[in-house]
Amino acid sequence: MPGALAPETTQHLSSSPTWYLLKWSATAEMAASARYFANPFLQAPSSSSSSSSSPSSAPAQALVAAWPELEASAMDATARAVRKETARMVWETYGDGDDENHHFGVYTGLAGAALAFLHMAAAGVSGASSRARKLAKAARRALKTQPGRKRERITFHEGEPGVWAVSAAVSAVAGDDRRAWEYTQELISFYTDAPTRIRDADSDEILYGRAGYLLALLFVESFGCSVDEQVKADVVTCILDSGRTCAARAGDSSPPLMYAWHKKRYFGAAHGLSGILYTLLRAWSVVPDAARADVRATIDWFAASRFESGNWPSSMGNSKDRLVQWCHGAPGAIHMLCEAAARFDAPQLLDAAVAGGDVIWERGVLTKAPGLCHGLAGNGFALLALHRATGVAIWLVRARAFLLLANSPSFVEGHETSDNPCSLYQGTPARRSCHVSGLRAA
Ligand SMILES: [Zn+2]
Repeated sequence: MPGALAPETTQHLSSSPTWYLLKWSATAEMAASARYFANPFLQAPSSSSSSSSSPSSAPAQALVAAWPELEASAMDATARAVRKETARMVWETYGDGDDENHHFGVYTGLAGAALAFLHMAAAGVSGASSRARKLAKAARRALKTQPGRKRERITFHEGEPGVWAVSAAVSAVAGDDRRAWEYTQELISFYTDAPTRIRDADSDEILYGRAGYLLALLFVESFGCSVDEQVKADVVTCILDSGRTCAARAGDSSPPLMYAWHKKRYFGAAHGLSGILYTLLRAWSVVPDAARADVRATIDWFAASRFESGNWPSSMGNSKDRLVQWCHGAPGAIHMLCEAAARFDAPQLLDAAVAGGDVIWERGVLTKAPGLCHGLAGNGFALLALHRATGVAIWLVRARAFLLLANSPSFVEGHETSDNPCSLYQGTPARRSCHVSGLRAA
């Protein structure tokens, strides 16, 4: 049942001053919601949406003061167990990937499990690298044994490109440059062998559309794999042309670029504008000069389209301020706005991201399973992104406070079950990955 979280996570701190701080914080007023657990660290409504310099409530300030002790005694104490548990859980589910019922993809399947182990390998978990390679191999095998699903999607998350991208990354991290190159070529040939797959796609969003293919290209580049600039430029051109066409249909009130999926103009990272704009920002070197002003104007329009709370609607014209998750709402928008604020040296865009962070702190401990897409881990990563972008300590403290809550029995026993509990985007491995990132952030 959704409700307030008790701070059981910190029971082993019962002899420390931090325990009293947390116990006191947990007595604060608690909201009840079907969508999120009350944040026991939150005593009063959080800071105003315009505050970027001191985005903290009194309990959060106290947490900052107590953090060195909290970090040493609570986070580190759980880290090893968290990593081991994740490895056991994912490995028991997927094994060598021989079960043909497992999807090959990143979002719910084998490539996503490989990515989770890749993340653990980067944190120094022993054996994680070899498991990542085995799972990536199983994902490639599943591409052949599941022909009906093979070319259905064009994106990193849902399609074949995600399998090649993760395989390239896993090989690059293992130092196998030859295979990393081969898998990168497979990813690129997905476009060059049949460019109409991308050009004729019926959407542009990250989850199912052109930006999802561009994301796969950017992903392998981040692991040092070389991608032909012309391929990226072609995909970007398609996305820009599509955005202008949709904006023209929408009329004078539209920003220069607009995108629709199933006739709705979505704002989120998975299904809408913020995710598409994020990939354009990350592919900035191939965005034509003539289009850059349109991208910037669309981002400014997006930032101004938020609710008074600091959150965003899920789609244009939707007045319900409900969803606070990566796929819809502030958690996904934050990544794009932080990127844009740095790209354009625009502090007002960072202010909009910070306002979204306050929304996450208030309503972001979701009752759904703790995945990346619509779960606590995705929201934790948004808080970590704010810490990187602002350098303000409170965001790391808040992210780590989320992780303490995420590992409390109240949360573990109380959150909703997932159809895919071992998937990166809908299940538990994301919570572990976020924990690793929270520990590594400095
Ligand atoms: Zn989602």
